[in-house]
Amino acid sequence: MPAFVDTSPPGVCIFCKLVAGEIPSAKVYEDDLVVAFMDLGQVTPGHVLVASKRHAQDLFELTPQECARVMQVSQMIATAQQQVFAPSGLTLLQANGHDGGQTVFHFHMHVVPRHADDGIHLTWPRKEPGAQALLDYAQRIQAALPAAS
Ligand SMILES: [Zn+2]
Repeated sequence: MPAFVDTSPPGVCIFCKLVAGEIPSAKVYEDDLVVAFMDLGQVTPGHVLVASKRHAQDLFELTPQECARVMQVSQMIATAQQQVFAPSGLTLLQANGHDGGQTVFHFHMHVVPRHADDGIHLTWPRKEPGAQALLDYAQRIQAALPAAS
């Protein structure tokens, strides 16, 4: 379980209002843990957001069950998008924190059908620091992982 679970009542953010039906949305899917709806911006046709129903700010506030469901529903939505929009590619994008590119601070995953020259760009500045740095990073992350139960 995450260290912190926000139990604040619904209606405090735009996605909570959407989940509560207080603002309109074009819903695609809904179950007990997640809701999927059309992104207002439609970066490409068929662009869907999969959000936690419960208000969780970001990845770190999701329960393991919510994490798993988000991924399962994202795959299901992506499969349907393949049939409907026949994209030549697909991108999942999930942003955390202002510096991570998050703009609505209620967890959501973008499921975006992709096409050649669709105007979406992600810069990926490779650093290639070398094997010793990789081993050091790996050991530090490994030491921070929870102990196996
Ligand atoms: Zn919310």
